[in-house]
Amino acid sequence: MAPFALAFAYDMLPSRVVFGVGCLDKLPEEIERLGATRALVLSTPEQRKEGQQMVDRLGARAVGLFDQAVMHVPIEIAEQAREQAKALGADCCVAVGGGSTTGLAKAIALVSTLPILSIPTTYAGSEMTPIWGITESGLKKTGRDPRVLPKTVLYDPTLTVTMPPLLSATSGMNSIAHCVEALYSKDANPIVSMLAEEGIRALATGLPVVVKEPANLDARSNALYGAWLGGISLGAVGMALHHKLCHTLGGSFNLPHAETHTVVLPYATAYTASAVPQAMSRIARALGSSSAAQGLYDLAASLGAPTSLAALGLKAADLDKAADIAVQNPYYNPRPITREGIRALLQDAFEGRRPQ
Ligand code: NAD
Repeated sequence: MAPFALAFAYDMLPSRVVFGVGCLDKLPEEIERLGATRALVLSTPEQRKEGQQMVDRLGARAVGLFDQAVMHVPIEIAEQAREQAKALGADCCVAVGGGSTTGLAKAIALVSTLPILSIPTTYAGSEMTPIWGITESGLKKTGRDPRVLPKTVLYDPTLTVTMPPLLSATSGMNSIAHCVEALYSKDANPIVSMLAEEGIRALATGLPVVVKEPANLDARSNALYGAWLGGISLGAVGMALHHKLCHTLGGSFNLPHAETHTVVLPYATAYTASAVPQAMSRIARALGSSSAAQGLYDLAASLGAPTSLAALGLKAADLDKAADIAVQNPYYNPRPITREGIRALLQDAFEGRRPQ
């Protein structure tokens, strides 16, 4: 594209990022930098140990640990955490964990304006976005609010070595999905596209090593660096068909978040490919493949990740309903959405055939 034809709007999101092996040692000084003295640490029950480690590192600057974060932030858990933050007089939240724990911190920040310091241990990328989600009566509401964007993020690859290979692979593919859709977003802009392409490259380089050698800190650093870029991409520009389909499948059929992203991504990419050839070349280049969709499929398969919706437990009988829900409300995609096209996409994803 010639420079004179460029036209875009880009909101840079304000957050401080500290990255590197061992950067967790800076936690106390980073809390001090936020001007906070009473941190409430958040974790899932499974990562209580990590939560307690943060409490210990913070010493007198920690007021407690709330270890009940779960997937999709149920309102009941959000209310409990909000009450605990209030009762303890917390003046900031420290979220150690994946998207579920960061999501709980966001639910607190949404009503209290408490600043969040996030310590990600997966590749989900929520820590770089102003997007919150809360589930009430089985429905997940989402929204954007600058108050929920973490003020500080500590990316220490050491904390990701405990991620089992399957979670590493699917969480990594989830992050690649943010990068892929950023490249053909309706809000796409040159800076985010550069970050997104680099994010795919870093994840595609790091993940194959990570699943074989979970403790390899060079590979873990590469993957986490890519995940950071994926998070920026998700936070900066709107997503499209792929994210809509995953939201539908997760919300209506209770399919697991990262696994669903992993399975659907090659098919959503194949569906959209003809409308955005430049974006596809960049994705393929970053993957070191001749085709974006096939490169994504091959990467997922090589990581040992699931490649079909059938493997995730979806029933063939659900495909018609899934297609109906996915086309109910209009949304942006470079290639227009048709019921027939989406039904065919879902059939391919159900069977897990390599996209053509
Ligand atoms: P998760 O946070 O639900 O974590 C899954 C499980 O893995 C949990 O039991 C967790 O404790 C454990 N875990 C996390 N890190 C680990 C590690 N290093 N070692 C061992 N176990 C570890 O999973 P996720 O995929 O990170 O997050 C998914 C959730 O985040 C979904 O609800 C999704 O909607 C949300 N999300 C939100 C945004 C946003 O911008 N708001 C972005 C991405 C994802």
